[in-house]
Formats: sequence, structure tokens, C-alpha cells
Amino acid sequence: MKIVAIVQARMGSTRLPNKVMMPIKDVPMIELLLKRLSRARKLDQIVLATSVSAANEPMVLHVRNLGYVCVQGSENDVLDRFVQAASEVAADVVVRITGDCPLVDPVLVDECVDRFLSSDVDYFSNISPPTYPDGLDIEVVRVDALKQAMRESTKAFDHEHVTPYVRESGVFRVGNMGYERDLSGLRWTVDELADLELIRGVFGHFHPEIHFGWQQVLDLQHSRPELFDGNKHLIRNEGASMGTGQKLWKRAKQIIPGGNMLLSKRAEMFLPDLWPAYFSKVEGCAVWDLDGNRYLDLSIMGVGTNILGYAHPEVDDAVRGAIAAGNMSTFNCPEEVYLAEKLIELHPWADMVRFARSGGEANAIAVRIARAASGRDKVAICGYHGWHDWYLSANLGDDDSLDGHLLPGLEPRGVPRNLRGTVFPFNYNNYAELEALVNAHDIGVIKMEVVRNKGPEDNFLQKIRKLATDRGIVLIFDECTSGFRETFGGLHKKYGIEPDMAMFGKALGNGYAITATIGRREVMEAAQSTFISSTFWTERIGPTAALKTLEVMERVRAWDTITDTGTQIRKRWQALADKYRLPINHWGLPALTGYSFESKDALAYKTYVTQEMLAKGFLASNCVYVSTAHTPEVVDAYFEALDGIFAVIRECEDGRDMQTLLKGPICHSGFKRLN
Ligand code: PMP
Repeated sequence: MKIVAIVQARMGSTRLPNKVMMPIKDVPMIELLLKRLSRARKLDQIVLATSVSAANEPMVLHVRNLGYVCVQGSENDVLDRFVQAASEVAADVVVRITGDCPLVDPVLVDECVDRFLSSDVDYFSNISPPTYPDGLDIEVVRVDALKQAMRESTKAFDHEHVTPYVRESGVFRVGNMGYERDLSGLRWTVDELADLELIRGVFGHFHPEIHFGWQQVLDLQHSRPELFDGNKHLIRNEGASMGTGQKLWKRAKQIIPGGNMLLSKRAEMFLPDLWPAYFSKVEGCAVWDLDGNRYLDLSIMGVGTNILGYAHPEVDDAVRGAIAAGNMSTFNCPEEVYLAEKLIELHPWADMVRFARSGGEANAIAVRIARAASGRDKVAICGYHGWHDWYLSANLGDDDSLDGHLLPGLEPRGVPRNLRGTVFPFNYNNYAELEALVNAHDIGVIKMEVVRNKGPEDNFLQKIRKLATDRGIVLIFDECTSGFRETFGGLHKKYGIEPDMAMFGKALGNGYAITATIGRREVMEAAQSTFISSTFWTERIGPTAALKTLEVMERVRAWDTITDTGTQIRKRWQALADKYRLPINHWGLPALTGYSFESKDALAYKTYVTQEMLAKGFLASNCVYVSTAHTPEVVDAYFEALDGIFAVIRECEDGRDMQTLLKGPICHSGFKRLN
């Protein structure tokens, strides 16, 4: 009977890429593991089983140079890889070891093999249930049993994790070896950087000896517990239940502050620890995660970028055309002129246009031009974020503002001191407040959104227009989010109020980066007197996408469709809330519609909605950024799924414990209108 240890390892780990080749005291982790394992007396051979991928070549080369056989098989069907490796070396019994466990102890391996041989079973391990520290996992299994599992199980999980079918199907005889105490809470395996540091500390302690036993490591943990503190927050076998996206998100947070570039797309804003977080492809309102699961997006739809739905065929074709002809050159792209003309046609009060690629940039450009035009530095901005370098100084305390993201009264950092005295926030629908600011300071610019969560009251916009005109102030409407949602162009067209400047973003390119700052000639010409210039504001994809987006929007009258759909969604939320006697309130434009539960547990309920809707195949929080891809069928399916969830929330209002229903932490509170 030939007994072979098969060590599975690959370079492409999601949470810690290349971990098996990472050095521990200058020796790659996999080499240490193999050398330690070689001391096991019951093994006839040790084989490394990895996948066919160029990324694994450095490891394969290294391990072969050490004299070990290396077999390359399937990337995801690890069970198949094992069967293949076992066949290649004519093994009868396999000892499964994973490459991320360099502390696995040869003495324990021998013990496990002995117990396997003496107990007439198909499978014997020390993990079912686990009592040894995580990182000492040993599984001994007959090759025949693996082959049978191969034939009988179609579940991807069984194939990825090799032994679940043998262990749990009830078809096989299984045995387990337990330790006298339960030490399964100790974590000596390597999934993340914190784990690797711990293992480095252990090898560092015994250096240059590498053949220390697991009991010695346990003693070390007692005598020097601080060496083992770094990975306490990590959970045993978390990887098996975590999706690829969640693993990648954990990795991202180590190397990208906050994990990504936009607060609203952080996993914690939706479903901490459980949100798939990353997409592999999109179409219409469907999104696929990294594991191939498909969801319908009834949440923020790319943060409001895709009014025409994701991957719109006509827009994408236009972009492909730009790529085919080339995106960049020393010459300018003609599309920017055509797009400027189109935006002026839609907004006859405007005469000139500047482009950028993000809303923040468009805001900065607008304010800069407006300051130059008015000759005055001081800017009154309406609540919300200013979206320029110094926007943190607009940390208002109202319920639409930063909602706890900055502690009240905290001095914003990174805001140049000399700018703090130049930005004066005022609240929406509070004309008197603005007038007082204008009277007290030499305000040159007013920048605001046309509508925020509620519409204008008491001729708010008319009064501001008059004030700005009378005092020679440049009035800027930030339409980055509101543009194209209710009219073909700025929302100000609906109210008949013309600003001096306006910015568009988000939906303008239907998912491609393009933003515009438009304005009256006398104001815009001030751009000449100040340096506003950037390389990538000249690329071709942005304006190309925008031209096609505007053409399609105009043809299908997208703003009407999304306003109707959003109005329907709002009504149906209310109907569902009434059905289950749950008080809710509504906010946002119809096409950016949102609701909140009026309950002390509102945030827990929102998290629960997201959790349960995700399980039913929907991305959902408590707002919908409506797109033309949200057809009546999609909306019907969404409400059908939501009904039972509201029913459970009713039960919780009546005393059922919501905490027991949540599988992870409660989501972070966001802005009432996200992003
Ligand atoms: N202006 C408004 C009104 C916004 O809502 C946002 C962001 N959602 C921005 C500007 C900033 O746009 P961006 O995220 O593209 O920089």
C-alpha cells in the first residue's frame, strides 16, 4: 500500500497572493513545509499538487529543484487535481496537507496515518470536529474514496474543498482523532498577512531550527502570547464560507485606505463581511459577482451613472469605435466640440463648456472659474458636500450632512487653514441664512444643488437667483447627480431658474467618465485667466460615450421612464409598509428614490433587507437609482421578494430579536442620499 502526502498549493490565493512562496527567514514557506513534512516516517512520497497556470511556475520550479514531484491539474476542481496526482504516483492512500500550513507536524501526521491504518475506515482526520490548532489539519483518505466522490458529487464546493463529500455524505466510513483539549480556536495557518507575521515570529523564535514540534509551539504561545496576538480577529475556515469578492475586499482594505475610492461602494455600507463587493460583468440591471452569481441591481446602479442600464450596447459600440480609432493623441478629439455644442443646445442660457472626468473635478473647476469671474474668494455652498479639496469644511450638522462620518466639531484635517474662512455653508430652503451670509461676508459665489431630498419651498430658487443677480454673485447649480433624471438636461429647467454655471456628471456618459461645467460666456471666459488644464480631460472615450448617451436618452425619453418607474417604486414601498403597519419615510427625486424605517432599529432592518434580498438575487439597500433597465417585470420581482422580508420586520417590531436573524454586523450609516 503506497501512502503519499499530497500538498495542495497555488500562487493565486485571493487574500494573500503568492503566499506559499513568501519568505520566512529567507526560505519560501512551501520549502519549510515540505522539509518538515519529510520527517514523517509513514509517508512513501510527498507530492505537490498545483494548478496549470503560469503564475505557479516559480513555485513549481523551486519545488522540483528541491527534488519533489510536482503535478499540475485543475485550478478550481481540486478534487480532480488530487485524483490526478494520486494516479500519477500510483498512490493507494493520500494524506492531504494544505500549503498554507507550514507548522503541520510530521509526528502528528504519522499518528494520523497509524490510526487510519488500524481503524478500517476510508477517511481519517483530525478536523472533524477540529480540536487541534487551525494549521495542523491532516486528512488521510483512500484514493478509491476520492475517485468515488469525483463521480458522485456534482457540487462545486465538494470539488473545490476535496473532502467534504467523503466526510459528510454518509457513504463512507470515517474516523477522527481529537486532542484532549479543544485548541481549535488557535490560528496557526496562513490566509492573510497577519497570519504570515505570526508564523514568521514562530520560526524566528526557533531559528535556525526548523524541526520543532507543535507542542513546542503551544508552549511558546503560553510563554510569549504577544507573538500570537496579531491574527486574533480572523476566523477558522472563514475562507470556505467566504465568497471570492469578500476575500478580495479584505485584501483591498490592507493596501487601499478605506478599501476603495468611493465611500458608497464600500461593503460596510451594505452588508459588512457578506457583501460580494466586486463584479465580473454587468448587463442591463444585472450584475455578476466574482463567483459567477447573478443579481438584479435595485440599489445605487453604479452610483447613478447608468440611467440607460449597464453595458448599453449602443454606447459601448460607440466607445469601441473610439478605441478602434485610438483614444489619445497630440491632436484634440473632435467629439469634445460636438458635445459642448449639444450641451449648449440643451441649455440655451449657457454659451461655453469645459470638460473633466469626475464630479469633484467639475466642482473644483466651476468654483475656480466663478471666483476668477467674480473677483471674490468667498463661496456660500448649500449643505451637503462640496466635492472639492476643501469640502470637509462644509460639515453641517443637519440630517443630510455627514451623518457621523466626521465627529461633530472635529476640525477637518487636510483642509488648508487659509481656505476655511472662505467657505460658508447654508441649509437648503433657508433663504434667510444665505442672505445673512451674503450680508456679513463678501460672497462671490453661491454653489448648490437645485433640489436635495425635498423640493424648493417659498420661492427659494427665485429668491436666490435675484440675490445673486443683485449682488453680482456667480450662481452655480451642481447638477452632477440631478441632471438628466427629470428633464433632458439640468433639473433647473423644470423650475425655470437659470444659473450662471452648472455641472453635469454621473449619468452623462452612462458609465464612462465624463463631466461638464457649462456657463455664461462672461463667467466662463475667466477660465482663461486661471490655470485649469489636465491631460486626461482630453481623452476621447468620455465625450464619445456622452454623445451616444444623449442621443439614446433623447430618443427613448429616459428621464420620463425613470421618473415614472421611481414614482411606482415609491408607491409600492408605501403599500408594503402599510400592509405590515411599518412607518417609513421617503426621500429623494423620484428617479433617485429612497425610504427609511421609522424605528430605533432602522439600520438593523436596512441591513436585514440587504442580507435577505442578496440571498434572493437582488442588490438592495434602501434606495433605488432608477434606470431604463428596471422594467415592470424587474420591479414586480423585486417587490415579490421584499414582501416576506417586511413581514419579518413586522415580527421584529412586535418583539422578535432582529439580532438573531443578522448573519454579520449592521451596516454603517450612510448619507440619506448616498454618495
Ligand atoms: N456633485 C454632486 C451633487 C454629487 O452628488 C457628487 C457625488 N455623488 C459629486 C458632485 C461628485 O461626483 P464624483 O463622485 O464624480 O466626483
